Amino acid sequence: MSVLVLNASNEPLNVVSTRRAIVLLLKDKAKLVEAAGASVRSERVALPTPLVIRLVAYVRIPHHWRLPVSRRGVLARDLYTCQYCGRQPGRRGLTIDHVVPRAQNGPKSWENLVAACIACNRRKGGRRPHEAGMRLSAQPFVPRLIAVAFVTSATQHASWEKYFRESGLVLPPPTEDDAAVRPGQGALAR
Ligand SMILES: [Zn+2]
Repeated sequence: MSVLVLNASNEPLNVVSTRRAIVLLLKDKAKLVEAAGASVRSERVALPTPLVIRLVAYVRIPHHWRLPVSRRGVLARDLYTCQYCGRQPGRRGLTIDHVVPRAQNGPKSWENLVAACIACNRRKGGRRPHEAGMRLSAQPFVPRLIAVAFVTSATQHASWEKYFRESGLVLPPPTEDDAAVRPGQGALAR
């Protein structure tokens, strides 16, 4: 099971394994916010299975630090939605489109990569959106919250939704084929 880690400011920060979360709780580096019913035993201490924990110390995300760009991160940021037609065909039905094509020196950056369905990607081809008569539904951006990139339907718990909503975010819609994704691979996972 996975545990949502909130920053001391209550913003979703990361997703870690249950084992990692328990270490943080036992070392008093985090407080339990929400737990599932069942107990886990660790070092002779019985703890409820954590679902959400909050770090005691605020983790400052440096202004110059950028979340490494990844396919998974782009899909999560774009909420598994084609940024041209709005369809949600699931992870396997989505591609990563270079808004400015690689052939025109478009970089592999958060600002230049978007989720696109196979049909839209094919239609756009090696052109810029306006050259193909297409329009982006939103301007691609660098995700502000790290947790966004690590949350998938395979790891998320329904109770997490409110923490994201309070921070003005929504969780990606469930997809059927997220099982291969594992949590805790973030740059700030520790
Ligand atoms: Zn599309």
